[in-house]
Amino acid sequence: MEKDEKGITVKKEQDMPEWYGQAVFKGQLADYSPVRGTMIIRPYGYAIWQNIMDYFNGRLKELKVDNAYFPLFIPEKFFKKEAEHAKGFAPEVAWVENKDEGATERLAIRPTSETIMYDAYSRWIRSHRDLPLRINQWCNIVRWEVKDVKLFLRSREFLWQEGHCVYETEEECDKETMMYLDEYTKMIQDVLAIPLITGKKSDKEKFAGSKYTTTIEAFMPDGKFLQCGTSHNLGQGFAKAFGISYIGKDEKKHIPWQNSWGFTTRLVGALVMQHGDDKGLVLPPKIAPIQAVIVPILFEKTKEATLKETEKIKKALAGYRVHVDDRDEYSAGWKYHEWEMKGIPLRIEIGPKDIEKKQVVIVRRDTGQKEFVKADKVKETVKLLLEEIQNHLFDKAHEFMKRQIVETDNWDMLMKAIDARKIVFAPFCGKKDCEDLIKDKTKGANSRCFPFDQKNVDKNCVHCGKKASQYAYFGKNY
Ligand SMILES: [Zn+2]
Repeated sequence: MEKDEKGITVKKEQDMPEWYGQAVFKGQLADYSPVRGTMIIRPYGYAIWQNIMDYFNGRLKELKVDNAYFPLFIPEKFFKKEAEHAKGFAPEVAWVENKDEGATERLAIRPTSETIMYDAYSRWIRSHRDLPLRINQWCNIVRWEVKDVKLFLRSREFLWQEGHCVYETEEECDKETMMYLDEYTKMIQDVLAIPLITGKKSDKEKFAGSKYTTTIEAFMPDGKFLQCGTSHNLGQGFAKAFGISYIGKDEKKHIPWQNSWGFTTRLVGALVMQHGDDKGLVLPPKIAPIQAVIVPILFEKTKEATLKETEKIKKALAGYRVHVDDRDEYSAGWKYHEWEMKGIPLRIEIGPKDIEKKQVVIVRRDTGQKEFVKADKVKETVKLLLEEIQNHLFDKAHEFMKRQIVETDNWDMLMKAIDARKIVFAPFCGKKDCEDLIKDKTKGANSRCFPFDQKNVDKNCVHCGKKASQYAYFGKNY
């Protein structure tokens, strides 16, 4: 950021897309790239992604999932093996020419890795003793359909994790498909402080080639859903297509069950939109690359004493991610502004007068609240404030989401609510042709999910009037 560059020039409420672009760009999370549809993740943005990866790798270890890496290129013929999958991804695949002598087919740049992984699985899995097989990879993905980049939200290339597991039984597969979704829910709600709606996708919205898809959906302040992750029960379709089988305890040949599950760098975009304000980013303490920034107020005469006290406070905060901003060339006010834009949860100011009074000033990024804290109470105060900020961000977002839900079985009400960018909760038949019409008539709204925790209902579909056994959430989405 140049010294003369101003802060964010629009209000979040007035122009969310413009606000979002500036918050990401000026917060130095990402930059635009000369290649159409792609983006650059800058170190500060990557540090957030790194924290997400570190947290999730810890969970994968607990869950006995191993990390591995498969090639970026996928032979064309692999895409023809599972018909629905091939059809679903056809418009999105980028192809490269295979320059090897005698090569007759193109190579796909992976839009997802089911096919290349399951070809290997068909060679690795022989017996029930090889199962369950649980593998995850962190990699980049290319989906060509995207033309105009929206930093972190939509780009031709993005980063993700994709987990791919194989089981002996349908029960195990079902159970773990839900388990990974629950892991996502825990991470996104507890660490990223983003409240979620969870459930099953309709047939129209499910993953191409899957038996069913489960999803976690966040609701952004501008009234649009953002899908944060999915976990698919793939059934036995891919196993059959790729020739995966195992010899069971009964010494007979069986077809195994599979699931796959993933989340992407979109989560960084979700964080920005959910919590940011007119000054820029607001990061939840558990994911913030820097949890507290210490800004010593430097004057010629007292500089040495102030820096000494700063060092003491930093030491007292061992265990937290703390940064000291002792740059000479910027004023304190300038620094405050910059760290606010970057969303650091706490700012600690130390000046000569504070040292005299044996205190520091601590300012919360989420509320702007300022307090004077005795120097020997800094550690316990920081601990408490970081917890408070984490909870406050979640509660605020959760209250907002709950207020947006409109329950109705009336079509006109649905149309009005969608126009007002609300979340509609309505009985739905779940049929694909009905959903196509809903999307047409509402100019883009679709069913986000059927929540898990509902009893069978005896209602008619909000759109077609045919019998509906379940309620679904509807809304527009990113
Ligand atoms: Zn219907």
